[in-house]
Amino acid sequence: MGTIERFWVKLSCDICGEEGVSAVLDKDSGSSALDWRNLRSLSSFDVATRGRQSEVISAMCRNCGAVASVETAYCNHRPEGF
Ligand SMILES: [Zn+2]
Repeated sequence: MGTIERFWVKLSCDICGEEGVSAVLDKDSGSSALDWRNLRSLSSFDVATRGRQSEVISAMCRNCGAVASVETAYCNHRPEGF
């Protein structure tokens, strides 16, 4: 039984097709202390998160300015479709 340490975020823009995937490391399983710095790899999007909690409030595509679709998952390995 392993603890789930990664919180995955997939952002996609329906307008221009821009996509980005990032995994945020949950350093302290059981709490909501997530290291959102990894989200910087989603450089094509402006991402708003709720503090250090595992919640993406919104994401905007920097390429075309549209609101991006957000998918999230808790999984140690890259989830299918991400
Ligand atoms: Zn776009």
